[in-house]
Amino acid sequence: MGLSLEGKTCLVTGGSRGIGKAIALSLAEFGADVAITYARSADAAEAVKAEIEAKGRKAKCMQADAVDFDGATKVIDEIVGDWGKLDILVNNAGITRDNLILRMNENDWDDVITTNLKSIFNYSKAVARPMMKNRSGSIINIGSVVGLNGNAGQSNYSASKAGIIGFTKSYAKELASRNIRANVIAPGYITTDMTEALGDKVLEGIKAATPLGRAGEAQEIADAVVFLASDMSSYITGEVIRVDGGMAM
Ligand code: NAP
Repeated sequence: MGLSLEGKTCLVTGGSRGIGKAIALSLAEFGADVAITYARSADAAEAVKAEIEAKGRKAKCMQADAVDFDGATKVIDEIVGDWGKLDILVNNAGITRDNLILRMNENDWDDVITTNLKSIFNYSKAVARPMMKNRSGSIINIGSVVGLNGNAGQSNYSASKAGIIGFTKSYAKELASRNIRANVIAPGYITTDMTEALGDKVLEGIKAATPLGRAGEAQEIADAVVFLASDMSSYITGEVIRVDGGMAM
């Protein structure tokens, strides 16, 4: 049985850049129609939409801040209204606001928790009814190895990513009887805008702590997402899959 997403419809939050962009393009490559959301990068998001369409798939590009609860419902309603259903939701949008706990302020905490964790509640809740109606769905939440192991300077980020695991397992238990699966991918260090700011010294340390001895590529996360989105993973739910070169082993 080959891997195909032909006839499937997907939403990727934060699909304008980095990992979300690679995920959106891969889902389209395997035959799916793909909608993306973004916060600020309108031009980049429109370019991703054009790339999806160039693959012969339907595409949507929607400006929607992932922290906005009502906005999530509007996004899902538009997709289900226009495309008839939503089969695959990838909750990818996320930010960092790193600081040691003594220097971390309340906004650093609130921004990261709402963007990374509340957003997942917003979209997973909005999609539950249409997926239940369809008796099918796959939700893939992008966590982090930092949610498993913690990291100095990232207490807000690791709390948000650990929270995603608890949320996903609860959601998976609630909706398994409706054939809705929910899983987490926990990336290690992946080369994107988010990690570029960390600098060469940090990168060398990360490589040294990674058994495979290199940073990961966004495409390597997208490959795991395609697997979890497809029927090839039909008996996997509530799982956390590390894609981290062995970093958190
Ligand atoms: P990135 O290059 O900074 O891209 C972030 C994406 O999220 C952009 O498309 C951005 O949209 C979108 N976004 C940010 N805030 C948003 C909001 N409030 N509403 C809607 N969209 C929003 O980051 P990345 O490295 O690709 O990370 C993607 C995901 O992987 C995140 O959840 C991150 O925590 C996770 N992750 C990354 C790594 C890594 O090493 N890179 C490791 C582990 C986990 P705009 O373009 O409009 O700003």
